[in-house]
Amino acid sequence: MEMKERLKIPRQPMPEQDPQVRKRNFDEVPLGYTPETAKTEALRCIQCKKPECVEGCPVEVDIPGFIALVAEGKFIEAAKKIKTTNALPAVCGRVCPQEVQCEVKCVRGKKSEPVAIGRLERFVADYERAAGEVSIPKIEKKTGKRIAVVGSGPAGLTVAGDLVQLGHDVTIFEALHAPGGVLVYGIPEFRLPKTIVAAEVDYLKKLGVKIETSNVIGKVATVDELFAEGFDAVFLGTGAGLPSFMNIPGENLNGVYSANEYLTRSNLMKAYKFPEYDTPIVRGKNVAVIGGGNVAMDSARTAMRLGADHVYLVYRRSRQEMPARIEEIHHAEEEGIELHLLTNPIRYIGNDKGWVTGIECLQMELGEPDESGRRRPVPIKGSEFIKEVDTVVVAIGAGSNPLVQSTTPGLKTNKWNYIVADEETGQTSREGVFAGGDIVTGSATVILAMGAGRKAARAIHSYVMSK
Ligand SMILES: Cc1cc2nc3c(=O)[nH]c(=O)nc-3n(C[C@H](O)[C@H](O)[C@H](O)COP(=O)(O)OP(=O)(O)OC[C@H]3O[C@@H](n4cnc5c(N)ncnc54)[C@H](O)[C@@H]3O)c2cc1C
Ligand code: SF4
Repeated sequence: MEMKERLKIPRQPMPEQDPQVRKRNFDEVPLGYTPETAKTEALRCIQCKKPECVEGCPVEVDIPGFIALVAEGKFIEAAKKIKTTNALPAVCGRVCPQEVQCEVKCVRGKKSEPVAIGRLERFVADYERAAGEVSIPKIEKKTGKRIAVVGSGPAGLTVAGDLVQLGHDVTIFEALHAPGGVLVYGIPEFRLPKTIVAAEVDYLKKLGVKIETSNVIGKVATVDELFAEGFDAVFLGTGAGLPSFMNIPGENLNGVYSANEYLTRSNLMKAYKFPEYDTPIVRGKNVAVIGGGNVAMDSARTAMRLGADHVYLVYRRSRQEMPARIEEIHHAEEEGIELHLLTNPIRYIGNDKGWVTGIECLQMELGEPDESGRRRPVPIKGSEFIKEVDTVVVAIGAGSNPLVQSTTPGLKTNKWNYIVADEETGQTSREGVFAGGDIVTGSATVILAMGAGRKAARAIHSYVMSK
């Protein structure tokens, strides 16, 4: 097709479940491209000589390269090309914030809309999986070196996948009963179906990675005990899953959850599959979710699907400052989530049985910018009001998982108890111990955790081979 014609093609929309239907089910919201729409969208890419989109991708996927293959209908080859730098394309195509990474840089976005890179990535990964043509890469000759990976989130899975291919014997130790980290316990089914994560985990098992679930390092064995057992190196990818609270009165009333607990009960413990699974969770009718990030959006949309009549998202700044992806805010509003902006809870009110019945809030206005560059919310005097609720989900951030740090002598941490590690290698202050992902950076993104895993895998390989 002539370039002039290609420039006229509009960005292909992704079909989605109707908001009125999807707000009561846990099925995935976007329905994915067909091969025809994928090819049409791929033709919008003008194959830039200096592709700026690649600069925006933390793992430097060959974006024009894979899109050219999609345009030719070579979907399996396109998936293979992505997988040379990104091991989890079906996950990244769904949850990466493309609008601030590759797509924001796409030159097509200057005059019209950027190429839908994320949707194409998701399409080829799904196509490959559905076709059953997931190929097993060449595994190098066995090195006899043993690597322990602590945590099975995107950082740990990436390290394990890279090292097993280099011929090492890799064992992942995961505290929870299922592998995947936030991908399985945090991000809900309607954004990332669990079958997709399970397929990625199965793929690693086929490569030879051993996975020991329900194995809390720091309790079952310490890092030093892993070395004593014969491991040559240890990677720590334990994430940032420690819930934060506001420390206001009433936080320990029944019906007040951390987002971590609420989402874990719904996702990992499968409350979302009621009545097949009868996991206890309060199915509130009037639910308040505190916070303005992706975790708050996931919690609010989960509450709606668990049967709420009203879900209020209570956020102390304005819409401009909300850290959640624009797409998530849009989806939440379509599903009837009510935003209460410039509003801050000051206490939770309970009944004589110890259950939450309301929140007292203060109205805020924006003042001068704070250290984060965002305008600081300032309380408006005398603006207190009470909102009646029967469930509260606190989603105001999370801290480092602390157990490994407290049981590993000599492991250097910063003032927030995140592990100090070299940005390029993941090397920590302890010889043979590497770290990466949220446990080093604090809460970040899937792709950054994977990028850190890839760098650490290279460094671990050099380390064990030089021993
Ligand atoms: C609800 C939610 C939604 C999100 N949405 C997005 C999104 O849309 N896009 C995006 O890019 N990012 C998103 N993120 C952030 C992203 O998921 C994280 O940045 C990413 O998962 C970090 O990966 P990780 O491998 O470092 O850690 P994690 O995914 O947190 O995995 C760490 C694993 O280590 C295990 N572990 C901890 N301590 C131990 C121990 N002592 N022994 C053994 N195992 C241990 C944990 O159980 C966990 O399985 C979201 C986060 C949350 C909470
Ligand atoms: S910047 Fe946009 S148009 Fe250029 S190669 Fe990347 S995706 Fe294609």
